Amino acid sequence: MARYTESVCRLCRREGTKLFLKGDRCYGAKCAVTRRNSAPGEHKQSRRRVSEYGHQLREKQKARRTYGVLERQFEGYFDEAERMKGVAGENLFELLERRLDNVVYRMGFCASRAQARQFVTHAHFTVNGKKVNIPSYLVSAGDVIAVKQQSRDIARFKEAREGADRVVPGWLSFNADGLEGTVVRLPVGDDIDLSIQRQLIVELYSR
Ligand code: SF4
Repeated sequence: MARYTESVCRLCRREGTKLFLKGDRCYGAKCAVTRRNSAPGEHKQSRRRVSEYGHQLREKQKARRTYGVLERQFEGYFDEAERMKGVAGENLFELLERRLDNVVYRMGFCASRAQARQFVTHAHFTVNGKKVNIPSYLVSAGDVIAVKQQSRDIARFKEAREGADRVVPGWLSFNADGLEGTVVRLPVGDDIDLSIQRQLIVELYSR
């Protein structure tokens, strides 16, 4: 499947905000946005006025890049969000948050969503005791996600076991000793700590 293969820091600089795509580096002084928050290739005085459409597009791109999904997948999530009961913008982020790669990242098993996607694809996790290697798999309330027995010696999982300062969102729980976590309930709007204006994405797709 086609994936973005250039420096992901360029994506953050393009959006003018941290998208937290690189794990620990995102929190340090080496973060490209911290060092130089200008769009890639842009010179000092060339910032142009952004149209309403431009704002809507940028919010959509921020969301898509944060979760690392392709354009068509993202459209599919939006279509599904519109079919669900409730507010489409909230539903969209609920669906994105429920992706298995996002959930293992949120639980602290992995340093970034990209690493989480790779680890899921390499079949290091089980859901309710069964191997699942599909990053887009949608978790449900009550699901138990665990590191497979044979994978527990991987250095990243040892770090996860020791990462006591991890902040896990309220809709998830994490058991460090057992290297497993539970989906306590489905996420709702306030659980999702992203500075993305969801309404602008809805407006973009309503054009
Ligand atoms: Fe974005 Fe992280 Fe790179 Fe900073 S270090 S620019 S937050 S990917």
